[in-house]
Amino acid sequence: MNKYGLLGGRIDYSLSPTIHQVINRQFDVSASYQIYDDSRSPELIMADIKRRNISGFNVTIPYKQLIIPHLDCLTRRAAKMDSVNTVTRINGRYVGDNTDSSGFAAMLKRNNLSLKNKKVLVLGAGGAANAVVDWAIQSDANMVLIYNRTRLRTNQLMIRAKSTYQFDNIMSVFDYHGLVVDVVVNATPLGAAQYRDEAAFNPTVIDASTYVDLVYRPRCTVAMRAAKDVGMKVIGGLDMLVYQAVESASIWHGFSYECADVEEIICNVRELVYN
Ligand code: NAP
Repeated sequence: MNKYGLLGGRIDYSLSPTIHQVINRQFDVSASYQIYDDSRSPELIMADIKRRNISGFNVTIPYKQLIIPHLDCLTRRAAKMDSVNTVTRINGRYVGDNTDSSGFAAMLKRNNLSLKNKKVLVLGAGGAANAVVDWAIQSDANMVLIYNRTRLRTNQLMIRAKSTYQFDNIMSVFDYHGLVVDVVVNATPLGAAQYRDEAAFNPTVIDASTYVDLVYRPRCTVAMRAAKDVGMKVIGGLDMLVYQAVESASIWHGFSYECADVEEIICNVRELVYN
């Protein structure tokens, strides 16, 4: 049986094994999917992956960029994003790809949200924020604002977005009090796991109509609850997690899928995870 999995550090909370189990059942795929929770250097991890004959793996915190120098090549979209969440072994070579941005796009489509001509505030500047910014630019957002606790990654994200897309309507903000925007996207871990009681943002000090939280567990974060209380439309991160996983699996196993397939998977995953 071909072996797949999720590479990351401190990821025992991950829903990916459950999601891939549901996907494999839906598409009649016979493959294993396990957690590779590893804190060694990417070089040692990659050597181990080759030795164990792993056919493909997803990548999460903190390896989305760190793994890149140890892969044989990248797809165009992964190179553009400088971030990898899906690796596939093709003829013995490990190829890095990224399905986060298309997963984000599919989640918005499912929830009838277009970013065209919108002003978007992105909280965070890591891998997920990069995926959000890419999609915002590709969907002709009017303006993208980045709010992050430190400067370094904010600057890197803005330089990448400007040079890759020649998009100049992107800037960082130190404070979002009093801002008027259309959509706020949380791409930090605030509200999840060890940050469960921390709100990613305060919706009472900003004028915005929609809040998208990429956190998928708990189902409703502190910030999502607060956003609902002030009447904002709220979207949680599980749909994106499922969409990016389905796309990864289709790359690995070669199946094609329809919207109805993903709907069934989302439904099954929701039942397993939230009930
Ligand atoms: P990442 O690359 O490590 O980036 C994390 C970002 O959050 C960075 O901007 C970091 O700020 C910020 N941050 C971390 N801890 C913080 C704290 N205590 N207070 C304020 N800001 C903090 O991680 P990622 O891959 O982007 O993932 C971010 C979140 O999105 C995670 O919760 C992940 O599970 C979720 N996610 C969801 C999906 C989905 O499909 N729904 C997909 C990808 C990610 P600094 O730059 O200052 O360090």
